[in-house]
Amino acid sequence: MYVVTPHGWAAMLGDWRGPTPTLPSGDVLMDCVPVVQEAERLLTDASDVLLTPEPRECLLCYVSRMVDAFGCDCSLRFATRYRDLRAPRATSLERRLGQVGGFCDCEIFLNGYGMLPRYWLPGAVANNGDATDASSPDPLPQCLGVRRGSTQPCGLWHRSRRC
Ligand SMILES: [Zn+2]
Ligand SMILES: [Zn+2]
Repeated sequence: MYVVTPHGWAAMLGDWRGPTPTLPSGDVLMDCVPVVQEAERLLTDASDVLLTPEPRECLLCYVSRMVDAFGCDCSLRFATRYRDLRAPRATSLERRLGQVGGFCDCEIFLNGYGMLPRYWLPGAVANNGDATDASSPDPLPQCLGVRRGSTQPCGLWHRSRRC
């Protein structure tokens, strides 16, 4: 049995001791602090990136991805965030979404739009062919892309028949 200290090691039983192996000295441990700060900075950057629509990502893929990750707060916070970032001139967005029953982010998918069945992933479709969660296969397929400034859904989405 040995004791290892920052200054060396010694055997608990017997006289063996020596300068190596050594634990990192206090100086080395201090070096970890900037690394931790760097990680925190990266995390902050990452959440900004996470909350930003990808290039050409459509409104619905973005909102669906955000609601999956952060939930719905009963407002159109992600839809309006997309609009503000990508299509600031689409001032009628809330009204248009309201017309399809989308008065909050999750209602866009509950009432307004669903993913076309051919894009459902195998895990999202039960044996009898019914989608277990048609609106949000996990993970979502890659957005098919829309032109910049558009608030139209990409080809993954169609208007739900329920409306
Ligand atoms: Zn909601
Ligand atoms: Zn899309």
